[in-house]
Amino acid sequence: MSESFDLVAIGGGSGGLAVAQRAAEYGARVALVEQARLGGTCVNVGCVPKKVMWNAASLGHALEDAREYGFRIEVSGRHDWALLKEKRDAYLRRLNDIYARNLDSRRIHLVRGPARFLGPRTVVAGGEVLEARHVVIATGGQPSVPQLPGAQLGITSDGFFELAQCPARTAIVGSGYIAVELAGMLAALGSQVTLFARHDSVLRRFDEMLQQATVESLTAAGVALRWRSVPAAVEGTEGAVQLRTRDGVVHGPFDSLIWAVGREPATAELGLAAAGIEPDAGGFVPTDRFQETRVQQVYAIGDVTGREPLTPVAIAAGRRLADRVFGRMAGRHLDYGNIPTVVFTHPPLGTCGLTESQARQVHGDTVRVYRSEFVPLYHAMTAAKPKARIKLITAGAEERVVGCHVAGPGADELLQGFAVAIHMGATKRDFDDTVAIHPTLAEELVTLR
Ligand code: FAD
Ligand code: NDP
Repeated sequence: MSESFDLVAIGGGSGGLAVAQRAAEYGARVALVEQARLGGTCVNVGCVPKKVMWNAASLGHALEDAREYGFRIEVSGRHDWALLKEKRDAYLRRLNDIYARNLDSRRIHLVRGPARFLGPRTVVAGGEVLEARHVVIATGGQPSVPQLPGAQLGITSDGFFELAQCPARTAIVGSGYIAVELAGMLAALGSQVTLFARHDSVLRRFDEMLQQATVESLTAAGVALRWRSVPAAVEGTEGAVQLRTRDGVVHGPFDSLIWAVGREPATAELGLAAAGIEPDAGGFVPTDRFQETRVQQVYAIGDVTGREPLTPVAIAAGRRLADRVFGRMAGRHLDYGNIPTVVFTHPPLGTCGLTESQARQVHGDTVRVYRSEFVPLYHAMTAAKPKARIKLITAGAEERVVGCHVAGPGADELLQGFAVAIHMGATKRDFDDTVAIHPTLAEELVTLR
């Protein structure tokens, strides 16, 4: 026996929940299938627990600085990781429950278990056969682990969130978002961190200024950076692992080795062929700008599409899709340009739009670059003088802002407002004509010359 729905969403993470809830608000009859915990990567093993750890690390830095601000406190250097983990995990369980209640209150039929396609718009999950007018694939992905001897001795970001205590010595392989974020947090919470990058920088897809800022901040935090280190094998035993790199050097031992080498889509078990969908070479589901796959009324959103794997992107794509299909908003879709993003290092990085080299490729000689480098007022009182960096990139005679990059305290919170301005097509003149807020780091963005 099968049951019919207007929409079946496969995956109860950021994207699946967003499309299901928005569709239900329009009155659609919706089923959502989730094989693990509601909330997906972001809530359970991503943004949310990560931000808790980042907050803890920020407090670690603040405690150090507090003495320089006149507080007579002793910082013992010991952080109760187990206590924080317990509180963090309890918070996540509360979020899982809230998501379940939200589905319930919108009368969304929740099916627990892995979903598999039987046909283009027929899905089997949890012993139920679900037929739908529209199906959304929102299965996200999981961390990649390189196929190397001994690789299983390492953990991934998922394993990081399971650690019962802070490893005394940590190796992190990779140099993207997760590698630099975890490196910064672990170092601030007491681990001796070595980061292995296969090229000679971190965050290579970011503007060079931000790369440099991150190298400096990680170095200042005591993270050992090993360039051109390509992993070849992991040796030793759990708790005392060594990393052999291709140049033959054996590094370690480390209490923990974390693979942070990207993520792969969760499509292998979905039975895409039964739906008539062919994933691309990386296993991602290709879609058009309306998130539609090559099969009509079967869509994909979020990380599984391989485009801008960020929570708000998955949510925005899902909501716009529901607006269009069930809310009669013809043509509504997500524009993937100018998506702002933050890297939660210490200090954080914020970026929106093109890097300087991308801007020069796209806009040639019409590009102008405004930059500033300064010690933030906060650090006037501290012995360490880490520099904040700001870069604004404009293009064309009208000097439209096409890139905005910030490394410094508060970069995470200040970027959202500037992203609105950039989205609206603001020019350098608009920035100049906006009165500054003083004394802040953000004011530097409207006073650049
Ligand atoms: P997911 O959230 O991964 O959800 C997919 C869901 O589908 C999962 O719950 C999974 O169990 C389920 N599923 C998979 N296959 C099936 C199946 N066959 N049947 C049923 N269910 C299935 N993004 C940010 O914007 N900011 C951040 O600070 C940030 N930090 C991050 C930190 C880490 C460590 C990681 C790993 C990611 C981070 N991200 C961050 C990225 C963000 O988590 C993802 O972009 C986002 O979760 C993607 O949402 P999604 O709905 O596409 O997939
Ligand atoms: P990223 O794509 O950011 O980085 C992957 C890294 O892996 C790169 O540094 C790459 O190196 C390196 N790499 C790939 N293969 C190998 C290999 N075989 N050996 C050594 N290094 C390798 O992926 P992450 O896993 O860090 O994060 C996944 C996504 O999750 C991000 O793209 C981001 O969208 C999202 N995320 C967002 C966060 C946020 O918003 N703050 C935080 C965390 C994740 P190279 O540069 O040398 O090619």
